[in-house]
Amino acid sequence: MAEATKHEDSDTRTSELFNVTDIYLVFRSCDGILFRINSGFLENAESFPTPKDFPTGLDEVVDLPEQASTLELMFQFMHPRRQPPLENVVFDTLAQLAEAVEKYQVFSALQVCNLTMANTLPNHALEVLEYAVKHNYPGLSDRAGPAVTLEIISNAAPKVSPKVIQAWMRFFNKWIECMHAVRESRPSYCNQYAGKDPQCVWSQGSSSILNLLARTIGKQSDISVTDLISPANIDGPWCCRNGIIEWQSKARAILSGMPRFSTFCSALIESVSYPECVESKLQQSGHVPWYVLRRY
Ligand SMILES: [Zn+2]
Repeated sequence: MAEATKHEDSDTRTSELFNVTDIYLVFRSCDGILFRINSGFLENAESFPTPKDFPTGLDEVVDLPEQASTLELMFQFMHPRRQPPLENVVFDTLAQLAEAVEKYQVFSALQVCNLTMANTLPNHALEVLEYAVKHNYPGLSDRAGPAVTLEIISNAAPKVSPKVIQAWMRFFNKWIECMHAVRESRPSYCNQYAGKDPQCVWSQGSSSILNLLARTIGKQSDISVTDLISPANIDGPWCCRNGIIEWQSKARAILSGMPRFSTFCSALIESVSYPECVESKLQQSGHVPWYVLRRY
C-alpha cells in the first residue's frame, strides 16, 4: 500500500483540486504530484491509510504507488462532492482507478467503476476479464470472457493471470465441443423431399454456413450462432429453409447447455487443495477461506 514517508521536496507540484491547508495528510503519486487531503475524508475508504497509520508531522509525505490521474479521480469519490464523470476517461486510467478503488475499498466508487468497465466491452475484453475475475464480479466475467479471442489471450499470455488463462482455456475447450456438436447436428437432407426439387441447394448452402461457423473459431465465442444458421443465410427453396430452421433449433438447444464463463472460474477455486497441516493452521488462526470451509 503506502510506502515509507519522506520529506516533501521543494520542487514538487501539488494537485489543484486537493491542496487543503487545515488538518491534512500529504500523499505523493508515483509520478510526483502531491495531494493534501483533509484527514477526515480518508475514512471514506475502508482500506486507505489513516492518520493513525502514519503518526508523523504535517511536513511528511506518504508515497502511494498510483499515478496522479488515478488518485485525483479516486480522491473525488472520497469527498462529499459531485462525483467525476468516467465515461470519457481513457481506458488505462479507468482500469487503474477501478483497481485502486477495489484495493482501498472506496465504496462510493465501486459500482460506477464496475459499470463503466462493463460499458467498454467488447473492447479491452481481456483487461475487463482480469478485473472481473480478480474482484469476483461473475456477471461481468460472463460478458467479458466470451469476447476474449484466442489471438488476444495468446499475445498477452505472459501478463495474464494463471487463473484467467486456466478458466479461459477450459471455457474455450467447451465452446469448441459445442461448436463441433452444432456442426454434427446439421441435417443430412433439408427434408424428405430433398433432391426432388431442382432448386434445392442444401448441400452447398449448408456447407457455406459451416464455413461461416468455422471462421469464428478462436475469433469469436460470443457470436449468435443461431444468427448464422438462419434462413437469411441460405438462398434456397422452402425445403432448404425448413432444413435451416430444424438445424437452428438443434443448435439453440446445444448452446443452451454451454456453461457461463464464471462457472469455469468457480471450478478452479473449488479445486484448490491444501495440505492437512495448512488447513489445521488456517482454522486455528481463524483465517479460513470460504472455499476451505465448504469442504467440511
Ligand atoms: Zn432443399
